[in-house]
Amino acid sequence: MSIAKLEHEISGSHSRHDDRRRLRVVHHRERVNLPAAERAVRDLLLALGRDPSSPHLADTPRRVAMSFTEMLTPREFDLTTFPNDEHYDELVLAKSIPVQSLCEHHMLPFTGVAHVGYLPGERILGLSKLARVVELFARDLQVQERLTVQVAGWLQEHLAPKGVGVVIEAEHMCMSLRGVQARGSRTITSSVHGLLREDARSRQEFFTLTRGI
Ligand SMILES: [Zn+2]
Repeated sequence: MSIAKLEHEISGSHSRHDDRRRLRVVHHRERVNLPAAERAVRDLLLALGRDPSSPHLADTPRRVAMSFTEMLTPREFDLTTFPNDEHYDELVLAKSIPVQSLCEHHMLPFTGVAHVGYLPGERILGLSKLARVVELFARDLQVQERLTVQVAGWLQEHLAPKGVGVVIEAEHMCMSLRGVQARGSRTITSSVHGLLREDARSRQEFFTLTRGI
C-alpha cells in the first residue's frame, strides 16, 4: 500500500499565479534492499533448476532486481493546481494514459490505459499530472480494482473536484501467458465520486466519452 507524503507550498509572489499551489508528492514505501533482492533472484534461479553461475545468467540477478525496483518505485512529482478563474465546469478528461503495474498475485505485469476525468471545483490541475498520479499507485504490487479506487480517491481528496472518475482497461500477463491463456482479453474497472457518481447526466457523459463512442 502506498502512502504519499504531502507538503503544501504556496507561492509567495504576487504575480498572476499568486495562487498556484504545488504539492510535492513522494512515496513512502520501504526501500528496496538491492543486494538481498539479487540473492533472492539467484536462489529462485537455482530453485527453478537453472544455474545462475553460467555465463548466460551471471548478470541476470542484478538485472531482475533492478527491473523490479524500477517497476515498484514511483517518481516524485509536484502536483501543481491553479485557481479555476474561468469557472470551467465541464468534464476534463485525459484519455488513454498508459498504465503498467505488477499484479500482486503473480508479480507479472498488467498493462493498458487509464481514462481519468474530473469536474473542476475551485481548482484545476496541470494535465500531465494525471499520468503521474496513475503512476504513483501503479508502481506497486497491485490488483487492478484497488489501483482504480486509489487513483480516484487520491484525486478526490487532493483536488476536491465536483466529481472524479477513473476507468482502467488492462491486459494481465498472468491471464495471457499462463492459466487460461486468454490472450488479448482486457479487464475494465471503474471508480467514480461526486457528481460523476450521483448525477445521471454527468455519469453517462463520462462513461460514454471513456468508451470513445
Ligand atoms: Zn495475477
